[in-house]
Amino acid sequence: MSTFKAPKGTYDLIPPESAKFLAVREALSAPLRRSGYGYTETPGFENVELFARGVGESTDIVTKEMYTLTTKGGDELALRPEGTASVLRAALEANLHKSGNLPVKLWYSGSYYRYERPQKGRYRHFSQVGAEAIGAEDPSLDAELIILAHDAYRSLGLRDFRILLNSLGDKECRPVYRAALQEFLRELDLDEETRARIEINPLRVLDDKRDSVQKQLVGAPMMRDHLCEACRSYHEQVRELLTSAGVTYEDDPKLVRGLDYYTRTTFEFVHDGLGSQSAVGGGGRYDGLSEMIGGPALPSVGWALGVDRTVLALEAEGVELELPPATEVFAVPIGDEARRVLFGAVTELRRQGVAADFAYGGKGMKNAMKSANRSGARFALLVGERDLTEGVAQLKDLGSGEQTAVALDRVVTEVRARLA
Ligand code: ATP
Ligand code: MG
Repeated sequence: MSTFKAPKGTYDLIPPESAKFLAVREALSAPLRRSGYGYTETPGFENVELFARGVGESTDIVTKEMYTLTTKGGDELALRPEGTASVLRAALEANLHKSGNLPVKLWYSGSYYRYERPQKGRYRHFSQVGAEAIGAEDPSLDAELIILAHDAYRSLGLRDFRILLNSLGDKECRPVYRAALQEFLRELDLDEETRARIEINPLRVLDDKRDSVQKQLVGAPMMRDHLCEACRSYHEQVRELLTSAGVTYEDDPKLVRGLDYYTRTTFEFVHDGLGSQSAVGGGGRYDGLSEMIGGPALPSVGWALGVDRTVLALEAEGVELELPPATEVFAVPIGDEARRVLFGAVTELRRQGVAADFAYGGKGMKNAMKSANRSGARFALLVGERDLTEGVAQLKDLGSGEQTAVALDRVVTEVRARLA
């Protein structure tokens, strides 16, 4: 133990569990990489104003959860709480939208920071894989992203997740609905903070988790009954495309999600084994965001999937990922000359793509074999003095205990053949 601990609300990824995280990141992004999305990386911090405008002044993320700082030079920065605003900023800055090749499809993976009350599945530092398709209004693009997330979760072996789907309308029909909702909400018995929310972001009141509020929302006007013809038809097409791809979803007229910038298609992936932190991912269309951060009109859609919660979902379902062994061959030398020869063999194995490790630190045979077994390797490769004079190594199958002598110059060929 050192004097220090990981800060509150954070945890370290260490082997062997960390391998699971890497595999989840890989699986969540694999469908994107097969679908024309290009990898993007943006800084861990941005100008605070990007998030204030891009995520929304009235959201929990901006009002309560952002880590902000003033640099020695006087810049106001924030650790990134989410990815969309940054990725759109980067795409605009690089003029990707002017390439004549819309939509611009990007994916990302990284750390995000929110000052939240830490609980299981809710951390102050967490990990997301995200995707954004920028600059096209096309129901098949919305459907594509939902299908890709669905397929990613399935490829990991997850079953107990559901897709919640809704449409939030557009600049035609949303304001009319918003006014109708406000009128309804103003008549309810609500606390001061919620009353203030009615005026700033009334849709968020629908998302209130408290029973006392939910009870009063029975009979509230719903966006789906106020969609204009264009939004209704768009949403219908998204639904049909999902159905024909064999992706089942639930219509959730109350799904609004936390971010201000969503329009039309909105969705969330929830996992039933996770208790109250049940959202494993979510996203939607954000047709107005580009203009909000000073860009041209660029209708876009995207999602972000939580890596931490996906790992918890795998655990909740008892799914064991099939991970490649970290080490396939573990080399155990007996004596100095054997150490030199075997180290050369290990280097060659690695160069030929075999995961190999070595008993470092001059430990005795017994301890070295313990390390070999602990490494999870399939084979131990042993060389002692007599082996050296005979020009062989002993290849020991750690599962069966069976041991065979292999000519030193044939070690790589033999090991690769046995592993194949
Ligand atoms: P929640 O309603 O649980 O607060 P959110 O709506 O704030 O989630 P998004 O901003 O949509 O979440 O982020 C996408 C995904 O990132 C979430 O579905 C979740 O899996 C993950 N996520 C968000 N916040 C956290 C957090 N504090 N700790 C761990 N994962 C998180
Ligand atoms: Mg949140």
